[in-house]
Order: sequence, then structure tokens, then C-alpha cells
Amino acid sequence: MLLAVVMAVVAVRLAQVQVLQHDYWQRESDGFIIKEIPLPAARGAILDRMGRELAVDRPAVAVYVHPPRLTDPLGTARDLGTILGVSPDSILKRISECRGPFLYIDRQVDASLKPRIQELAKREDQAVGTEPSTRRVYPKGSVAADVLGFAGIERTGLAGIEAACDKLLSGQPGHAVGERDATGWPIPHRTRVIQPARDGTTLKLTIDLSVQEACERELAEAVKSNHAKAGCAVVLETRTGNVLAACDYPTYDPNSWEGTKQSTWAPRFATWTYEPGSTIKPLVAAMALDAGVITENSTFTCNKTYTVGRHKLECRHAPSGGHGTLSVADILKYSCNIGALQIGLKAKGERMSRLFTGLGFTEPPTTELPSQYQVLPTYLVPTWCATSSYGQGISITPLHLAAAYGALANGGERMRPRFIVATIDPNGTVSERPPVREGRVFGAEASRRVLEMLTRVVEDTHGTGHEAKVPGLVVAGKTGTAEIPGPGGYLANQWIVSFVGVLPAGDPRYVIAVVIDRPTGTAYGGTVAAPVFRDIAESIVTTLQIPIDNPKSDKQ
Ligand SMILES: [Zn+2]
Repeated sequence: MLLAVVMAVVAVRLAQVQVLQHDYWQRESDGFIIKEIPLPAARGAILDRMGRELAVDRPAVAVYVHPPRLTDPLGTARDLGTILGVSPDSILKRISECRGPFLYIDRQVDASLKPRIQELAKREDQAVGTEPSTRRVYPKGSVAADVLGFAGIERTGLAGIEAACDKLLSGQPGHAVGERDATGWPIPHRTRVIQPARDGTTLKLTIDLSVQEACERELAEAVKSNHAKAGCAVVLETRTGNVLAACDYPTYDPNSWEGTKQSTWAPRFATWTYEPGSTIKPLVAAMALDAGVITENSTFTCNKTYTVGRHKLECRHAPSGGHGTLSVADILKYSCNIGALQIGLKAKGERMSRLFTGLGFTEPPTTELPSQYQVLPTYLVPTWCATSSYGQGISITPLHLAAAYGALANGGERMRPRFIVATIDPNGTVSERPPVREGRVFGAEASRRVLEMLTRVVEDTHGTGHEAKVPGLVVAGKTGTAEIPGPGGYLANQWIVSFVGVLPAGDPRYVIAVVIDRPTGTAYGGTVAAPVFRDIAESIVTTLQIPIDNPKSDKQ
């Protein structure tokens, strides 16, 4: 038994030596050296929905040295340092500390540097050399970085789709056996392929490069001009759940991920949870209308405060005497907390809890990105029921928000947000992935009514979301200005502001969600996030072929 374990350990170790320690000298006879040569698989590309390249493999070279055979280690380190743009001292240190016959200096060097390294190889009598390799390149730089993620030195995906779909993308490496002469020179035509490599699968995303770029530009501008901590934006197609754009700011360039903060790698739009605030109100209203708990003619009174159990809850946006008597549409238009919580209390905890489960808030928003999403707890007590109806005491990600409004816009049926529309195997066979229906959350009629109410939030000059008005287009949307829970209560004067809207309201096809974390100064969803929604919408209407009516007539 013990012997078997020892043998197994030896076998694993041997396999490691042969596969990983690339230049393991297996056998030496007649002056020839037989060597195992790994055959790397090409990593699948990542394309946008139009087939434009977002992540690809490009030819590169691996640079290695045989430390014991170097005649001038100091000179070699100096010249390699110059060619590769790294410190000669660090190269020299690695050479002098290397106990084996072989050392990779860099495995993904731009192929254009090969002639200069070959010159050095001649001088060092082939104790320096190159072999073909590939490099992961993101041709659009930081564009869609938070969706794509990146693959590291070992070509393993470390973030984003690159990590979540690593198995599919990386394929299966193969290996060959080759002969080299005593000086390490490969002997031509003496290589035998034992196991050919199987290249990785290419992924075609739902992301549209043009929409993504517009979204990133407007978000970055807003986060910077408001001196905010961060921000997220998502553009979602309502009928398919296709995510056309999803971005974070700040972001990073996956081509140079090594110099970036690890905290920027996670797709914030799909992993960062926040209390959504008032953007929840229309969802609660649609549920309550659908359940018959309220009607469109129901009215509620806001006297500024409302007591539930031991808790005195306040309508922050209301004038000192409160909003007075409001219809359901008015509650949404003025974003009245006291009106919203009375709707929640009428619906009761169980329906609220079912609503949030139905909207997917109790699970990660997507299975196509890495996620450490913490499951949303729901409580059936009246206080929770009241506060959660205006978005406090629950937390979701920006992608959850976009998908929930996607359900409202899709006649009440929720589609699972998705990023991959098709896979293309190494032979070029395309497999489409169908959209995933998650089930009905609202009735079609209730959804339509609430969307209609939400057009007033934007279209009416007194609506909280009027800044989201897109000339020539009727938009339905809702603002959110949410407090941030901290130790011992909510943080003073710090907000997460948001706007989520549907367009065109008459033929709802797209949702745009914008969430900005801690803008400075007097900030509301209506003043900070709504204009970002408008700017993104204006930039993408042409790409998405959304018909615009005579925009000039709408200018005020
Ligand atoms: Zn109120």
C-alpha cells in the first residue's frame, strides 16, 4: 500500500518533470538528446456579436538560456535586459540562482524581437535561444475589460469570461518527442507528434463593441466629473437577456494586467452589491397590481413619516408636511417612500420575498462570469417588508437591476442575462446558445401599466428622472438615491445614485442601468445618473436602429 503511494508520487513527479520542466534531458545516446516537446493549444478567440476581435492569440517567442553553458552571463543579462526592457540585474540574479540546465527568461515576447535575440544566441554559441509561443492580446485595450478579464502567463484565465470559460477557451495541449544534437540544436525532421494539441473554442459574445465603447465613454466622464468613487453601466436587450454592454469605472487594460490593482479585476457590475433604493418601487408596484392588492386608482397618503412597529420611517424627498395623497403613478413620479412602503405592507412579506426570488435577486446575476455573490436574505417581518419596498434592507448588483427592468419591459417574463451568444469549435462549427427564459414575474398588463407610469417620471417636467429625457424618444425609467449602510447606521452624506430606464417605451427593447457610487456634493439619481442614461441612449440609438421622432420638436 505504502509502496503504491510512493510510486504514485514518483509517477506524478516524473510527469511534472517531463511536462513542466520543458528541457528535461530524457536520454542521451550517440550524441543525440531526446526531448519531450509540449505542443501548446491555441486559445480560442473572444469576439463581439458582429465578429470583431476582443481577445486573440498572437505569435510570440519564448526566450530561454542554458545557464551552465553561458560564457558571459553578465553580458547576456545586460543585452537581454536591453532587448526585453527589463532590469539586467534581475535576469542575472535568476541565471545565477538557476540550478538546472534550462531557464525561461520570458515566455511571451513580441515576435519582432526574435532577430535581436538570435544575434545574441550566435555570440553565446546557442546557450541563448527562442522557441515559438503565443501571446494573449486584447486588440481594443481596456474596452470590455471587465467582461473579458484576462489570461495570465500560464495562459490560464484569471478574471472575467477568460476565467469563467477557461476550459472551453484553452483547449487541450499535446506533446511531441524530438531530437537535438549535443549542443542543444534541434535536428530537423526528427520530431514525432505523440499527441496533437486540440485548440480552444472561440466565444462569440452578446457584447456590441460600438455600444460598449459609448457606454464606457459616458460612464467614465460621469464618474470623473462627479468625483465619484466608482460606477457601473449595463445595456441589456429585453427579449433575449443579451448584455450589449457592461462596464465599470475605474477599469484596467488586460494587456498590462500585471501592473493593475486586483480590486479592479472583478466585474463590479455583476459582483458588487448595493442597496438599490427607489429603483425597486416600480417592481413592487407591478407585483402588487398583478396580485390585485392595489389597483391603478388606489391612493395613499404621505405625512412625511410612517411608523412600523418600533420604527419611524421617513419620506426623504417629501416637503415638511409630506407628499399628501398620491396615486400609484404619483408615488413613482415623486419617488415617495411612504406611499411605496404602504404598497409593500399591503402585499405582505411573502409576496415581497417571492418577488425578489422571481427577479433572480437570490442568486448570482449570471453564470457566465466569476461570481462571489452573497445570497440575498429575505425576512417576512413588516419592517423589512416596508423598507425593502423602497430598496433598503436588500442588496443587488447593477446587472440584477437591469435584468429586473428587462422583465418589466418584456411583458413580465424574465430572461437570464447572458454574455455568450455562440461558440465556434476549432473546426469552425458554430453552436448558437439559445436565450434562457427564467419565468414570468409579472402579468403582461401590470408590466405595461407600470411602464406607462414610468414614462411620467421622465416625460413630466416635475418627474425625478426628467434629466433622462432623450429628444425624439419616449423613455420609461426610475431614479434611485440610496443611502449606504455602515457600522451603526447609514453613512452621512454618502449616496449611491442610479437611473434605470427602458427604451423606446412604446416598444420596449432595451434597458440601460447606470449606478454611480458616492458622487461628491449634492447628488441624486436624477441629477447624476439620469443624464448618463440620456447620453448613452443618444450615442447608441443609431447603432441599435431605434427610430427617433423629429427630435427638434421636443427641445424645451
Ligand atoms: Zn412621500
